[in-house]
Amino acid sequence: MIDTFQQRAATLDAADPLASFRDEFHIPQHAGNDQTYFCGNSLGLQPKATRQALIDELDDWARLGVEGHFRGRHPWMPYHEFVRAGLAHVAGALPSEVVAMNSLTANLHLMMVSFYRPSRERPAILIEQGAFPSDRYAVESQIRFHGFDPADCLIEVAPDADSGTISMATIARAIDTHRDRLALVLWPGVQYRSGEVHDLAEIARLGHAAGAAVGFDLAHGIGNLPLRLHDANADFAVWCSYKYLNSGPGAIAGCFVHERHARTDRPRFAGWWGHDQATRFKMGPDFVPTPGAEGWQLSNPPILALAPLRVSLDIFQRADITRLRKKSKAMTAFYAEAIETVLGTHLDIVTPRDPERRGCQLSLRVRAGRERGRALFEHLERHGIIGDWREPDVIRVSPTPLYNRYGDVLALLREASAFLA
Ligand SMILES: *Cc1c(COP(=O)(O)O)cnc(C)c1O
Repeated sequence: MIDTFQQRAATLDAADPLASFRDEFHIPQHAGNDQTYFCGNSLGLQPKATRQALIDELDDWARLGVEGHFRGRHPWMPYHEFVRAGLAHVAGALPSEVVAMNSLTANLHLMMVSFYRPSRERPAILIEQGAFPSDRYAVESQIRFHGFDPADCLIEVAPDADSGTISMATIARAIDTHRDRLALVLWPGVQYRSGEVHDLAEIARLGHAAGAAVGFDLAHGIGNLPLRLHDANADFAVWCSYKYLNSGPGAIAGCFVHERHARTDRPRFAGWWGHDQATRFKMGPDFVPTPGAEGWQLSNPPILALAPLRVSLDIFQRADITRLRKKSKAMTAFYAEAIETVLGTHLDIVTPRDPERRGCQLSLRVRAGRERGRALFEHLERHGIIGDWREPDVIRVSPTPLYNRYGDVLALLREASAFLA
């Protein structure tokens, strides 16, 4: 059975128009061979060009000191312009709607300062049950910060399937049930545990119809699927860049603010880098925001953090997120079929079956439970097959179209069968 999948994988890899992108990445080694790396949903691999990009900035700093702001190979003063088109490409946004800054959770707070404006009548935030802890902590603390009680202002929508997924009908019902009290709907583009993809345009439409602001957490969406944030009409979105965006541990994060808020007079927490660029260096006392997402910047950006993002976005633009998605759909479907056929008696795929409702990731629930699941996960790791573990019983594997091959699934099939036999 495994042999059939091996032959099919060889054919698919040979015909893959994106296959050469793998050579642009460092693949970690295991016992003298490439690891089987399925962890791009957690920490994407390092592009080979990243090292030189960092060395260039260090050299320009050494050579030029402060003059690197204007005379560097990639001058630091307008450096954000070098990532603007790439961010717009992966976010499906206008260039003026995106900015690279801070970290995901910090950006989520900054966005809530502007877009979570609770009143006595309308104090509530709607999120998914089982949200990533940082998002939940951020939302809860914002509710308390405004003097409200999370016990009745934090509304969590429970999954409506054993797999942990949440259907659009259930989301719509929750929005409708709480429509008079909702200040904000905060929803993931791709849920981190189940891998489920959500219909962002529809959620934004329903949230707005209920009178709420709508924001998206795209930690697992950006670089995974083509996003169409502008058309989806979200008020804001946030993401990190170390997962599918391959920009390194703790990479600088990103933020989207819809064009209709470009000149908003909503409150915001301000810093000098959000000030109108034309007059920023007049160093005046009054804050005049630069129009668009850049108006939410606080500080001058960390160039050593932007350099890896610039390298990564260049790869995404050359590969093209639409072509990547096409390969990703085919590859994840191939993995799902192979895992179900070979390992289906032991593993349940809890990620939705419909390719439109999932991205790269497959979440595999180990039927035998936590102990056996954890032992399987550790067995795979010892054999150089790197996924990640989510309590209590889920192994996540995320083949990514930039550097994974169809054939990478074979190591998983072989080692998991050997262990479970
Ligand atoms: C990865 C992830 C985070 C991480 O937050 P940081 O601020 O980057 O540490 C937050 N939320 C979600 C949904 C994530 O997947």
